[in-house]
Amino acid sequence: KSGKDDSGVSGRVRVAVRLRPRNAEELAADADFADCVELLPELKRLKLRKNNWDCETYQFDEVLTETASQKRVYEVVAKPVVESVLEGYNGTVMAYGQTGTGKTFTLGRLGEEDCADRGIMVRAMEDILADISPEHDTLTVSYLQLYMETVQDLLAPERDNIAIVEDPKTGDVSLPGTTLVELKDQKSFLELLQTGEANRFASNTKLNTESSRSHALLLVNVKRSAKNKQEKDFVIHNENGNSVHVSKGHRVPTIRKSKLLIVDLAGSERVDKSGHEGHQLEEAKAINLSLTSLGKCINALAENSPHVPTRDSKLTRLLRDSFGGTARTSLIITIGPSPRHRGETSSTILFGQRAM
Ligand code: ADP
Ligand code: MG
Repeated sequence: KSGKDDSGVSGRVRVAVRLRPRNAEELAADADFADCVELLPELKRLKLRKNNWDCETYQFDEVLTETASQKRVYEVVAKPVVESVLEGYNGTVMAYGQTGTGKTFTLGRLGEEDCADRGIMVRAMEDILADISPEHDTLTVSYLQLYMETVQDLLAPERDNIAIVEDPKTGDVSLPGTTLVELKDQKSFLELLQTGEANRFASNTKLNTESSRSHALLLVNVKRSAKNKQEKDFVIHNENGNSVHVSKGHRVPTIRKSKLLIVDLAGSERVDKSGHEGHQLEEAKAINLSLTSLGKCINALAENSPHVPTRDSKLTRLLRDSFGGTARTSLIITIGPSPRHRGETSSTILFGQRAM
């Protein structure tokens, strides 16, 4: 496709698929069945069984089997995005898939009992904290929920109607009134995630809905002054072996701003509209709207289309300045092995394919 550049990297969207291991229930119930997918990680291919004798083969940028470690998943899916954010570009990491396939496991695990469990959010913050300089750089974090086309601040849940404002000149997206926590260490980040999760649970209980019906967005803003890296004084050695002190003088530091968005998307499963009415129907419509418009945007990105249609939903409006241009996007689609969910697994795979 047109989205491939010389390096063979697909467009600006990198797409990885991750298979969750069978859970206890699936091990028991589907003991006589084969998994509905077969992974060929070396070839970066996935085979989806259609029936006993036929299957469909799909190519991805990366195929992560049920034994892939959290560390490997981070390195493949998120680390390149985190590195480019540290260099001053915007970036997005998103997880898409049916409820129960491992989106939150992949992105949000804190790994407090076993640090090998740490998910992408925690590992990303570790890398960012290790790279920035406490004197010259600032790091602020917001944590948001997007439910039924309204944005809620998970760090101040009473703020449940946050506006998405776009700078008409620069195109930068901002969310006035959102809590911005300045972070210095990993401990306060873990506390922030826990507070956000507790608020998410409480407000969803009040609304009588599941957290799988909303999108959770972690927004990390990095503001760096270039002074600390390239422009500080340094020492060189001349031919005689003497060291010479070189001063760069008093240059005005250049400020670079970038942001990383990590998005735990609402469950992609199709809600049977005929079986629902009222609130649940509206909820299903809102999820369909946002995921469909997200699909259109990543499809446009993959095709290098000059127009990315971000206006259709709050989710894509929020992502506007993290899409296209110099921004990097990584999508991880999560699937389960059970043949009972073959239909949902198939539509998740097709969503991932559209991004390539
Ligand atoms: P989602 O957020 O997509 O609804 P979860 O992340 O909550 O799904 O995962 C559902 C269940 O499966 C959880 O109990 C989780 O611990 C487990 N799980 C998900 N992915 C894995 C994995 N790769 N290895 C082991 N357990 C997993
Ligand atoms: Mg989840």
